Amino acid sequence: MKTGREYDLRHRCHDSAYILKRWRAVARAARFETTTLHTTPEGYPIYLFRTPRHAEGGLYLSAGVHGDEPAPVAALIDWAEDNLAVLRRSNACLVPLFNPAGLDRNTRADHEGTDLNRNFNNVGHPHTGAWLRAVEGRRFSCGVTLHEDYDAQGVYAYEVSRDPALSTQPFLQEAEKWLPRDSRSWIDGFPARSGVIKRSRIPKNLPGLPEALVLFQHHAPASFTFETPSEFSLARRVAAQRAIIDTAFLLHGR
Ligand SMILES: [Zn+2]
Repeated sequence: MKTGREYDLRHRCHDSAYILKRWRAVARAARFETTTLHTTPEGYPIYLFRTPRHAEGGLYLSAGVHGDEPAPVAALIDWAEDNLAVLRRSNACLVPLFNPAGLDRNTRADHEGTDLNRNFNNVGHPHTGAWLRAVEGRRFSCGVTLHEDYDAQGVYAYEVSRDPALSTQPFLQEAEKWLPRDSRSWIDGFPARSGVIKRSRIPKNLPGLPEALVLFQHHAPASFTFETPSEFSLARRVAAQRAIIDTAFLLHGR
């Protein structure tokens, strides 16, 4: 096991240009269909990739909506480079780095100070507006969004599901081989049990909608958000996120 510092240096996990270059190589090798949703003023493209076998259903997976949450972004590119054959035969839509400007700055928000994850119902924002058009009318079997949390004391999940057979448990069972579950009974202001915050409907009076809830509202019968604890070792957070990504492709990527 590498320490977090070694991992950081080896993987340049806040270097958006380097990570995007690696994604272009993966896209060529795995024969993705690439949509550039938007290009930031610094020139960072925001990619939406569709695997060669993409069709109705399948997996929706995203990372890097918040720039100060590097483990999911590092885990997803590492996983993709190691799983080109899986990607070629999968049915998936990937948005691997939604906020490249924020990742570069190590800020939650984008270059304009906007929290993108409160804007997924905003057609007027250039990133989320392009995202809404790209996924319009599309149904996935499951939506998975990857995040991190500074207050977390372990890995935890938000689960919204219309189908009791679709749950975050198989994902968390794999992730907890690397990190404990967050055992608090209240997480982020919500009641939680064994690291799961369950919701059956969209809460009212939200200032703007996160990606996971827009996916649940219009695009998928279940939408899961996984959070790794920012203060834990980067290597363990990346390993836990990789375990979640593995499970997502295994269960929903076909
Ligand atoms: Zn986040």
